[in-house]
Amino acid sequence: MTKIINGKEISAAVKERIKGEVTSLREKGIEVGLAVIIVGDDPASKVYVANKEKACEQLGINSYKYALPEETTNEELLELVKKLNNDDKVNGILCQLPLPKHLDESLIINSIVPEKDVDAFHPQNVGKIMIGDFDFLPCTPAGVIEMLKYSNIDMTGKKCVVVGRSNIVGKPMSMLLLHNNATVTVCHSRTKNLKDECAAADILVVAIGRAKFITADMVKEGAVVIDVGMNRDENGKLCGDVDYDAVFDKVSAITPVPGGVGPMTIAMLMQNTLTAAKKQNLK
Ligand code: NDP
Repeated sequence: MTKIINGKEISAAVKERIKGEVTSLREKGIEVGLAVIIVGDDPASKVYVANKEKACEQLGINSYKYALPEETTNEELLELVKKLNNDDKVNGILCQLPLPKHLDESLIINSIVPEKDVDAFHPQNVGKIMIGDFDFLPCTPAGVIEMLKYSNIDMTGKKCVVVGRSNIVGKPMSMLLLHNNATVTVCHSRTKNLKDECAAADILVVAIGRAKFITADMVKEGAVVIDVGMNRDENGKLCGDVDYDAVFDKVSAITPVPGGVGPMTIAMLMQNTLTAAKKQNLK
């Protein structure tokens, strides 16, 4: 029978553990704080930021929101990041992406001190992930690994295929699978014979941003399928990159959308904020 890997349930367990740690830090007089910067009025970004604030509230993490107008300049944003870098109440800084087009994303991300870069996007943290000596793991790939471990799905020696090579999901995902002893193939829009590559996977992780792109003929019988995609189908309903109903009976385990990887991403952000607070206070 196909197992549904339930991100809501797993993230609730992760958050419960984090809440316990946040409470015991508070008993020692240490508060945990996350600053979230949002620039402009992108509706999706507003929803993500609201969800992050809600998670902070649930876990007893202080959240500091900076909602800046669309016309904010690079200089103004750099000034804010500098202030937050030097604010002891703030253990983690997150700048919600994408930023409006006139802003320089790399410049802003690189200005966050690596110790507070809870998204793990700063080149120093990216480099540390590469060599396997990391403080923070990128939230979405880390959430996927957590789901696999929680579900007792061993990655050792498995053929893992990652579809998508973005800096946020695909590339770090492949690196984390490698660190967990998987044999990893990374596919992208120029991959030849994508169907055959996917159909060879014991564990297939899909992060491309195309509704229901992965069909039943692209998955191996008994494979584990992790769907990172978040799209709207033709009826405006939230759906993943995998045609869930079509592949369901063929696979051994699968993540749903919604309720799969999404909730895990936020849980791992909370984990990174806690890690930052511990590193900054328990020296
Ligand atoms: P990007 O657009 O940055 O990257 C998409 C990747 O998919 C690229 O590497 C691209 O290849 C590849 N791709 C696109 N079309 C095809 C195709 N037809 N065949 C093979 N590969 C293809 O997206 P992200 O990585 O940021 O996000 C991917 C999806 O995951 C989106 O739906 C996003 O909303 C979702 N997401 C979900 C999160 C969550 O918490 N659940 C968090 C982050 C993202 P190439 O490099 O060649 O262009």
